[in-house]
Amino acid sequence: MIQLQNIEKYYANKGLKSYVLRHVTTTIKQGEFVSIMGPSGAGKSTLLNILGMLEEPTYGTYEFMGENVVSLNERKRIELYRNHIGFVFQAYHLIDEMTVAENIEAPLLYKKIGSAERKSRVAEMLDRFNMVAKKDLFPNQLSGGQQQLVGIARALAAQPLIILADEPTGNLQSAQALQIMELFKKLNEEENITIIQVTHSEVNAGYGSRILHLLDGVISEDLQVVV
Ligand code: ADP
Ligand code: ADP
Repeated sequence: MIQLQNIEKYYANKGLKSYVLRHVTTTIKQGEFVSIMGPSGAGKSTLLNILGMLEEPTYGTYEFMGENVVSLNERKRIELYRNHIGFVFQAYHLIDEMTVAENIEAPLLYKKIGSAERKSRVAEMLDRFNMVAKKDLFPNQLSGGQQQLVGIARALAAQPLIILADEPTGNLQSAQALQIMELFKKLNEEENITIIQVTHSEVNAGYGSRILHLLDGVISEDLQVVV
């Protein structure tokens, strides 16, 4: 599903190249649950952003479902990630002025999905996440854990093949964090959704099947999680 070949990312400053990622080569198959770990500044978010097509590598090739991402024009690239990738953020990134239901519906509007289909998908998500009674509340009326569930419902409403999550439980208490990880595991096992998360937590990483360790922009370890 994902093939990275010799990815490099650097920022040039007064003629000096400051490398964030170097020689990153790896393959991720549909149905994997990968945790990207490593110290602050190692390049984890940059790698996730490149996978999400939000940042471009300086060098190297990225193939996503057979498409050469770097060579696509912007319209095609946006279409590719909107159709297949769901994003989940540490700080949820919900729209404060929109209700729970409106937040879940928002990406479906971008995808130009018709009104009846939108309503039915939003209703399905509200039901699945036990949020029917909360559908007209605003994000600031919810706990952090509930806001993250809305963030995940919003990602899932667009029926992605893959979820990219940057520290999805970084702002949550441990009970809420475990709930999010249980949900990821379920989505991965029952719906074969590929999950790639950046995390500092060994506990979170234990829910996945594979750990990529980044150190100074290089993949220093690539481990299978044994259960
Ligand atoms: P994390 O992903 O670890 O939560 P951030 O992405 O906020 O953290 O930042 C990681 C590091 O990258 C920080 O040390 C920050 O200072 C640095 N950083 C982020 N953006 C820039 C930038 N535009 N220019 C220089 N350094 C940056
Ligand atoms: P991590 O997520 O592992 O904390 P990041 O991917 O956020 O790391 O950042 C890795 C490095 O990239 C940091 O050292 C940061 O200084 C650098 N960096 C990120 N964005 C920029 C930028 N726009 N300009 C210069 N350096 C940047």
